[in-house]
Amino acid sequence: MKNGNSQIGEILVTREQIAQRVKELGQKISEDYKGKELVLIGVLKGAFIFLADLIREITIPVDMDFIAVSSYADGTKTSGVVRIIKDMDISISGKHVLIVEDIVDTGLTLNHLKELFSTRNPKSLKICAIFDKPSRRLVPIEIDYKGIEIPNKFVIGYGLDYAGKYRNLPDLCVLNTDNIDDKKE
Ligand code: 5GP
Repeated sequence: MKNGNSQIGEILVTREQIAQRVKELGQKISEDYKGKELVLIGVLKGAFIFLADLIREITIPVDMDFIAVSSYADGTKTSGVVRIIKDMDISISGKHVLIVEDIVDTGLTLNHLKELFSTRNPKSLKICAIFDKPSRRLVPIEIDYKGIEIPNKFVIGYGLDYAGKYRNLPDLCVLNTDNIDDKKE
């Protein structure tokens, strides 16, 4: 897929580096939540691959669900608006909840989701994100389980898309914006 496709830029984080970090996060989560009723809530669509990998590195019984939000239009610029497209099916009341996100950029999405989830009376509420772009933050957000910090580049792969594509790239790559008008700010 890489050859001949000019939108896929350099590899920023390899699949091996991602797998190693996911394993470490899974171990830490398993220790921290031992004996507790844990629910993972993946934020679609981007977090589906991370959640699938993470849950298999967790060694304690765990429930899971997804919520679908939209924070970007079809390009790479943030709208600042978070829309719930699909709510979760299970109740999180009285449970230990871990929100599983692909990447924290401005922090607006997680800020909004944390507020929303808090109103549903979870026993505890924490955040796990595999990638973090701290230089782009607009609102402060505490990432309790943080994967890998990356520079301010628009990335694709490992669940992350550009205009719906490239989620299936196993490595995290930079989007090559040479031929794209709608460039990341
Ligand atoms: P935030 O609300 O923190 O600005 O953005 C969170 C969401 O924006 C992520 O869940 C992801 O869907 C999208 N996003 C942020 N940065 C990137 C990026 O570099 N590449 C892609 N594909 N999506 C991103």
